[in-house]
Amino acid sequence: MPELPEVETMVRGLRPALAGRTIQALEVADPLLLDNCDAPTLERSARQAPVSAVNRRGKWVVIELAPPRGIIVIQPRMTGAFFLVDSELARHIRLTLTMQGPGPFARIRYNDPRRLGRICWYPDASAAEAAFARSHGPDALEISSGELAVRLSKTTRPIKPTLLDQKVLAGIGNIYADEILHRAGVHPERSSLALSRAEVDRIHQAIGEVLTAAISAEGSSLDRSYRTVLGTEGSFLELIRVYGRGGRPCLACQTPITRARIAGLTGRSTHYCPSCQPAGPEASPPAQATR
Ligand SMILES: [Zn+2]
Repeated sequence: MPELPEVETMVRGLRPALAGRTIQALEVADPLLLDNCDAPTLERSARQAPVSAVNRRGKWVVIELAPPRGIIVIQPRMTGAFFLVDSELARHIRLTLTMQGPGPFARIRYNDPRRLGRICWYPDASAAEAAFARSHGPDALEISSGELAVRLSKTTRPIKPTLLDQKVLAGIGNIYADEILHRAGVHPERSSLALSRAEVDRIHQAIGEVLTAAISAEGSSLDRSYRTVLGTEGSFLELIRVYGRGGRPCLACQTPITRARIAGLTGRSTHYCPSCQPAGPEASPPAQATR
């Protein structure tokens, strides 16, 4: 957390507050989060800088300043969030943008209780894109099913940790991987290489469906760490089928959902339906869930 839908929700919330406006000042409150730059460089680059665009790449928030001011990238990782409004949760501010002139929000704050997020600066868009490409595969919402099939065929690792590998495809985390595999009817421990093309196509379709639905719901607020820029909770948990539902009946077939630790994933639980997601190669297509 946050995963692609939460970061997309952040970007959509930040865009009207940032894009087309000018930053009056940027203040680094916690240099520990700075990855490839120092506070004076970042503050100097952003001072009086017009913002051309705000976009998402995988789980990165990309703030494009007008050339030659560079690109600011913020990776919220586990507990990072942006706030445009006052919130009782905004007690760990690591960076503040003060905007110039009239506009809906005067200050944009980046909050990060566990300080695991990263803040980077790149001289231009191609440098930022090159840095992304070095550590990430294609965006999960942009990859084609053919390219996904090629990428999955290169590893015998189980499919769940493969979906979480940002170098294979970017944006998917633990919650959405479980939801995607349940919708696709694929057991999380199946070898990526051994999946049939039909199974890969179902995974590809489920990626699009799950991530799109989660963006519409403004993400998932599992705990106090994730909020929208306006301090509200995302509502995707109301639509969730397996994640966090261990022992409760599958919404497609009533079999109790299994909660397990699987190889290749330390410290994170995996949730699946042992009936809808068979451990061996499938004999028939999965049942359809009621939501
Ligand atoms: Zn089931």
